[in-house]
Amino acid sequence: MRGLMMDNPLLISSIVEHADINFPDREIVSVMSDDLIHRYTYRDCFKRVRKLANALTSIGLSEGDRIATIAWNDYRHLEAYYAIGGAGYVCHTINPRLFPEQIVFMINHAEDKWLMIDPLFIPLIEKLSSQIPNVEGYIVMGDEESIKNTSLDNVISYEKLIGNESDQFSWPHLDEKSAMGLCYTSGTTGDPKGVLYNHRAMVLHAFALIAPDAMNLSNRDCVLPVVPLFHVNSWGSPYGAMMVGAKIVYPGPKMADGETLYNLMEDEGVSVSLGVPTVWLVLLQYAAEHNKKLESLQRTVIGGAAVPESMIREFHEKHDVFVQQAWGMTEMSPLGTVMSLKHGMQDLTHDAIVELQTKQGRGMFGVEMRIVNDDQEILPWDGKAFGALQVRGPWVCSDYYKLEGNAGSHTDDGWFNTGDVAKIDPDGFMQITDRTKDVIKSGGEWISSIEIENTAMGHPAIAEAAVIGVYSEKWTERPLLIVVKNKDQKLSKEEIMTFMDGKIAKWWIPDDVVFIDEIPHTATGKIKKTALREQFSDYKSAE
Ligand code: AMP
Repeated sequence: MRGLMMDNPLLISSIVEHADINFPDREIVSVMSDDLIHRYTYRDCFKRVRKLANALTSIGLSEGDRIATIAWNDYRHLEAYYAIGGAGYVCHTINPRLFPEQIVFMINHAEDKWLMIDPLFIPLIEKLSSQIPNVEGYIVMGDEESIKNTSLDNVISYEKLIGNESDQFSWPHLDEKSAMGLCYTSGTTGDPKGVLYNHRAMVLHAFALIAPDAMNLSNRDCVLPVVPLFHVNSWGSPYGAMMVGAKIVYPGPKMADGETLYNLMEDEGVSVSLGVPTVWLVLLQYAAEHNKKLESLQRTVIGGAAVPESMIREFHEKHDVFVQQAWGMTEMSPLGTVMSLKHGMQDLTHDAIVELQTKQGRGMFGVEMRIVNDDQEILPWDGKAFGALQVRGPWVCSDYYKLEGNAGSHTDDGWFNTGDVAKIDPDGFMQITDRTKDVIKSGGEWISSIEIENTAMGHPAIAEAAVIGVYSEKWTERPLLIVVKNKDQKLSKEEIMTFMDGKIAKWWIPDDVVFIDEIPHTATGKIKKTALREQFSDYKSAE
């Protein structure tokens, strides 16, 4: 027997309609490329969203057509998110920091019809335009001044495009499973793979992320998403924040500028921020150098890479800010786990809470997790056994765009192989110990490179640490620790070894440490282990 409930589809346009009626006066603040602050309300935003939806419809697009955005976090990019997806097209967000060949690959693979670009990226796109023949035209996200000197063909400024359009738009009644977003994973090997999001997944993901045991977003919050809109839907923040009517603050191109982030937090009353660890290193450094305290921020959601314990402590001890580590993937929209305390854990000691914060968080309703060994046997949640982490749920990808089951990414019984190796404790807190391909196998036993990295990062003289496996005749592989020292600090290999002694298993302690000036990172801020392996391919084990 079918239930008698209405069959309203879960569409992102319903977030626009809800927020427009309920929170018209909430503010959206953006730092723009000219350093000026732009400020307007949800009401103004949605008027422009509808104007853009009208404009896109009038340029002759069909449902499902892809429109790419190459832009920073600001109000126009947010408008594009809702207008493109809401009107029935697919918003393909592109990371401008990728290699140009990868950007070309993605635009061609996605068959993007139009490109919406931040004026700052005009020179980049001018260089690539001859290699992207499917693109019919360019919308530069600025006014007429912004396109004055470009050599791009069929170019129009965003402001002119929407200028004469009506601010009324009738959102189409789409199938909730129709595509509305596309984001490629910038894998370190092979071609990038496209993850195609649908309305249903985005709305369910937004419901999940605002919940108290996840990001706990409410109308009383002011959110600073430093995680880019071009990286996995800015972790779903555009949908979650607008669903509850939170104030939104965007840093524009100043994502990695400690002073801008600090000032935005203080001036705008930011209560919660989202970003990868590298961004917060810059902010903490700025605050320390200028003897400033974060007065307004209450909590920060950090993910994308493991959060060093030293960062968790510094946020807490110097700024009274609670770090919620989160884990997810482009393929998961992205949220899978978020740190939040369970009943009774408030009374734990500070050190015990910090220990929990160093884990990647616990599962949220909507994402099932399991860990398996090499024989696909399910491992216990005992905090000790670690194995390949697999997930499934309504906001986890069922396949990659155009790969039609050929990526080898899913198990026969329908789980997605995350490529992460993890353990899960009896309370459900998951801890990533490695990527499947980064795991070090020494004498047949797995060593967690991330745990060694985190331990090393706890040394006050170490700015960044990476661990790779190097060939060993005796053990097949041994960990090599690669270290970047903090500016002007003296530090010897022996001091690091002594520091690690007792903090990790003895046989995990690397046999050698090398010091370098800079650790290479991927465009999304992760340590590029492939580059390090290449750099140290001739390395001879100390044994
Ligand atoms: P991406 O799809 O670019 O967001 O990358 C997803 C991958 O980033 C995951 O599979 C993990 O390997 C890594 N990752 C994400 N969050 C965390 C975290 N909190 N700690 C450790 N690794 C993480």
